[in-house]
Amino acid sequence: MFKAQGYAAHDKHSHLVPFSFERRAPGVNDVVVEILYSGVCHSDLHQARDDWGGSIYPMVPGHEVIGRVTQVGSGVHKFKVGDLAGIGCLVDSCRHCSACAEDLEQYCEGGMTVTYNGRERESGAPTYGGYSDIIVVDEHFVVKVSDQLDLKAVAPLLCAGITTYSPLRHWKVGPGQKVGVIGLGGLGHMGVKFAKAMGATVVMITTSPDKGKDAQRLGADEVLLSTDPDAMKAHANSFDFLLNTIPVPHDINPYLALLRRDRTMAMVGVLTELDPPPAGVNLILGRKSVAGSAIGGLKETQEMMDFCAEHNIVSDVEMIAIQDINQAYERLVKNDVKYRFVIDMATLKAAP
Ligand code: NAP
Ligand code: ZN
Ligand code: ZN
Repeated sequence: MFKAQGYAAHDKHSHLVPFSFERRAPGVNDVVVEILYSGVCHSDLHQARDDWGGSIYPMVPGHEVIGRVTQVGSGVHKFKVGDLAGIGCLVDSCRHCSACAEDLEQYCEGGMTVTYNGRERESGAPTYGGYSDIIVVDEHFVVKVSDQLDLKAVAPLLCAGITTYSPLRHWKVGPGQKVGVIGLGGLGHMGVKFAKAMGATVVMITTSPDKGKDAQRLGADEVLLSTDPDAMKAHANSFDFLLNTIPVPHDINPYLALLRRDRTMAMVGVLTELDPPPAGVNLILGRKSVAGSAIGGLKETQEMMDFCAEHNIVSDVEMIAIQDINQAYERLVKNDVKYRFVIDMATLKAAP
């Protein structure tokens, strides 16, 4: 076993505090990764606070992990000691269902093993995430990272990046299309960058008037304030695709009115019920679709990392010390992040 240090939530009301725990001894296919940077996803907050139910405590969140390989098992082919490595939201899957066979491990029929707040398939031991100094992961679930990019800004690609890249690819976003990204946060700002790089005309759809300038700097051709009914009306029936990243239950009906006939809004933000639910008429008239999408498989995550290296795409980050994680969560709730917090894990060695 490996001794590890991290920060953990001990119940849904408590702050994250320093925590010592054990990682499994590396198996033949495992790599040991010393963690350099860990992004802070809104999902970390949802799970630490048990918004989705069934949270496992103590919980060490973190699924946007960049680090360096310090040890490899005898069967490891992809990595050697000293390589950079990226770990996202999943660390295992059944490996033989139809989803796994198609490189869609995130939709594993046996259920993917999530990086934290999950259980290891064989031992049933809890999984612990990236707010820690070291992690042990099967190499299949680890991606290669280019050393040409700013590593701290690469970390958020492992969740915010792939979660937006995958639906944009699946619904074949490209030139000649008008694409709306709803919510300018961690996911949304990556969605804007990707949709632009894929050649679409991009509209940032936001509730925050002050984010307009940033949206344009990130690549948006236009900004639509969703709280302005006249502006929303002016864009009615005009979008080829909408990517909805809003993290809380909300009314999707005004957004459905923006879609052209036969087009789709992909939901990536809300896991719980919509409130109010979509009215049937808003789907029926125009043959519109509401769909969902979860992160991405390992093959596509690597493809996304390579796309980012090629197009020089990284996240806009605000660096924090691990000791500031609780304030960062408070700011996330207040919508006060531009546009992703990333923890410098070197700070873990400082006094708590
Ligand atoms: P975030 O950084 O907090 O950004 C969310 C953005 O949504 C905010 O910046 C805000 O943008 C908008 N927003 C917030 N509250 C709103 C409200 N009440 N009404 C309308 N808009 C609102 O969060 P994130 O890290 O991007 O994560 C977004 C969601 O995706 C979370 O629920 C997370 O759990 C989920 N997620 C899902 C997957 C997946 O696989 N599907 C993966 C990762 C994360 P504006 O100020 O521009 O309005
Ligand atoms: Zn995430
Ligand atoms: Zn499977």
